[in-house]
Amino acid sequence: MPTPWTAVSTADEAWRLDALCAETDPEAFFPEKGGSTREAKRVCAGCSVRTECLEAALTNDERFGIWGGLSERERRRLRLQRRDTISA
Ligand code: SF4
Repeated sequence: MPTPWTAVSTADEAWRLDALCAETDPEAFFPEKGGSTREAKRVCAGCSVRTECLEAALTNDERFGIWGGLSERERRRLRLQRRDTISA
């Protein structure tokens, strides 16, 4: 069954075919507010397409879930850091 990470729609998204989370419980990657992200991040740490996944989430402004090992809050912080670096 496709998960948000494995639904490939373009050649640029071929990395999704190697998404390690496709072999796990997708619900761990979309915890309830205040829920643990530890298990999802543990899976991401061993994923070979972590960089591609994170960049896709940043590009697509994904608002929910763990992508590339980062939560939405962590991705927002990274976006702001990059923006500050570019404008400095
Ligand atoms: S980095 Fe994490 S969320 Fe992204 S494809 Fe890999 S396991 Fe899935």
